[in-house]
Amino acid sequence: MDLEVLNGLLRPKSIAVIGASNKKGKIGYTVVENLIESQYQGAVYPINPREAEVQGFKSYPSVLDVPGDIDAAVMVVPAKFSVQVTEECGQKGVKGLIIIASGFSEVGRKDLEEQVVKTAHRYGMRVLGPNIVGILSNSDDCNASFAPFLPLPGKAALVSQSGALLIAMDASTYTRRVGFDKLVSIGNMSDVNFADMVEWLGQDETTACISLYIEGLKDGRRFMKNALNTSKPIIALKSGVSAHGAAAAASHTGSLAGAGQIYDAAFEQAGVVRASDLNNLFDRTLALSLQPPMRGDNMLVITNGGGVGVLATDAAERFGVPLRFAPEEVQTELKKHMPEFGSAKNPVDLTGMAGRDWYQHSVQYAFAHNWVNGLVVLYCETAMTDPMDIAQGIEEAVRLSGITDKPITVSFVGGEKSDTAMRWLVEHGIPAYDGPDIAVNAMAALREYARNKELANMEGPRFSDVDEEAARAIIAKARENGCCNLTEIESKKVFKTYGLPVARTEMATSEDEAVRLAEEIGYPIVMKIMSPDILHKSDAGGVKVNVKTSAEVHEFYREILKNAQAYKADARIQGVAIQEMAPWATEVIIGSVNDPTFGPSVMFGLGGIFVEILKDVTFRVAPVSPDQAFKMLEDIKAGAILAGARGEAPKDRQALAEVLSRYSQMITDLGDEIAETDANPVLVYEEGEGAIVVDARIILKEHRA
Ligand code: ADP
Ligand code: MG
Repeated sequence: MDLEVLNGLLRPKSIAVIGASNKKGKIGYTVVENLIESQYQGAVYPINPREAEVQGFKSYPSVLDVPGDIDAAVMVVPAKFSVQVTEECGQKGVKGLIIIASGFSEVGRKDLEEQVVKTAHRYGMRVLGPNIVGILSNSDDCNASFAPFLPLPGKAALVSQSGALLIAMDASTYTRRVGFDKLVSIGNMSDVNFADMVEWLGQDETTACISLYIEGLKDGRRFMKNALNTSKPIIALKSGVSAHGAAAAASHTGSLAGAGQIYDAAFEQAGVVRASDLNNLFDRTLALSLQPPMRGDNMLVITNGGGVGVLATDAAERFGVPLRFAPEEVQTELKKHMPEFGSAKNPVDLTGMAGRDWYQHSVQYAFAHNWVNGLVVLYCETAMTDPMDIAQGIEEAVRLSGITDKPITVSFVGGEKSDTAMRWLVEHGIPAYDGPDIAVNAMAALREYARNKELANMEGPRFSDVDEEAARAIIAKARENGCCNLTEIESKKVFKTYGLPVARTEMATSEDEAVRLAEEIGYPIVMKIMSPDILHKSDAGGVKVNVKTSAEVHEFYREILKNAQAYKADARIQGVAIQEMAPWATEVIIGSVNDPTFGPSVMFGLGGIFVEILKDVTFRVAPVSPDQAFKMLEDIKAGAILAGARGEAPKDRQALAEVLSRYSQMITDLGDEIAETDANPVLVYEEGEGAIVVDARIILKEHRA
């Protein structure tokens, strides 16, 4: 990372405003006015050949006329001047361009955008935008944007792909009481993208938490890598679905890969916490910017009201941090400061009689106890107690406990007094929310962060007993024959080069050969039509299972060819596959797509209705280690079936995880060739008995990458 250049762009010590204006209402006016109002301490150089002065600053005809150094140039001139202006900035030695102007790729002028970036890079400059609001930084007293004011000060940084949303969120930082140090509008991402921002914010000492509003990532894998390398929490709100048109997908997996499933997987794999909507982005950002991660599953809830306690309990389950009863010793101690009818289990109900002392005692004791990994404190406003009193009791308890490595969140339910008390809590570093479910959700974010970080890993498998060259040779041969779809036999050959267990399958081009092969393999066998033009063999009447005699082989051979002909008259028929018949077992599906953002990604699900109707599948960006693959088996709702549900014997998940892992290595290594794949079905046997691929499909990319 060119740190010095990005520092110049994002924390500039001097700023030129190209297109600065004295006319109110123009963006060139607003940007200069905002720099003045935010009390920016660096040098400001308005650039405008028609003015001698702009809002009290000496104006220059061009950046080349400016006497001092310029870190960042804010460009508000029309797009048609952008290349020339970039050229001048380069000559001047400007470090970064903040291109507010629009009229680029968003209106079909990608060429112009590319020319600007090319010119900028020639001079070692970086480009933010175009089509952005600008940058805002509290720690630099710098509002280099047309958003009206700096956000409520805080420790988070927000990077937004939408400019309008950035301005709206800026204003709501005050009403929502969520503080940000920086807001960065990233717009068309012609050069600086989310991956760059994560890397730079990761090392920026004024940022504690990275908040992202994402419509689409440009370089998914680099984003994941940089997110993994960051020691700060990252929270992302992703809108819109992936570019995958389900309809355009040829394989089964392709049609399941839409709707942001791969984004979900990628975020989890990179340790990024998800936000479900805008409110949630704010709420979770507040918690992640003020509190440490929750490093264990034990969340304790302390409340003065049964109702909010139950709501919190429900929310805990919903958000993946279900409550457990507190151990005996914790209950005994907490019992000391509550009436007989209180409860010390979890939620701990101090009852409506609880005042500051009871709260303070139980919070201080519980927060310091080893069993507790995270504490949620709830309070219902009562006639007998003062919310501010309670808030101060909680804050003092946390402070006196001396604990700084576990998190607390709070919710007060009540009126203005509660509101004031919560504001005070947030100012003292304790996230407070107006709903018990929100406080629990915020704690769940702190848990997700810790958990994702533990699991986060892009270290794939590296099985050495694979033969990539052999796989490529099979693919090359299929391409010579003009095929983009490999037949089952070809696909299985490729699978085998990666050590995947496949049912023995041979090609017969005559009835006699079919019988000979059937006898060699041993009855019963399976017969299937082999044609690059028939992807779904059963649909074409092209599959016969449990074939037991040579007479049947003869009969079915003719029948299969006849069916294929009827199904698709011009289908190129290569022959009939004769295949070892695998004993019946649980059917699962493994598949892959080559995602436009994240590249090769592997899918897993159970066969039959689980995939067809329930769409119960899980994705990972490939490759995945056998351990990560094992987690995929537990991820799906039907995962319990593999673990051995309802008296059934557990299936060989170890073997299946290895198959998935090898598969993921195969699609990654051959990612330049392969578009989609399916192993549908894979039969999985009981523990120790392995798994076997009985159907295989590989769809090649139209053109080699
Ligand atoms: P399709 O192209 O229609 O998906 P498959 O090769 O998957 O064709 O065959 C259809 C079904 O036949 C499979 O889902 C599986 O249940 C069964 N089958 C196919 N091959 C075998 C085999 N070698 N051993 C056992 N069952 C098989
Ligand atoms: Mg199949």
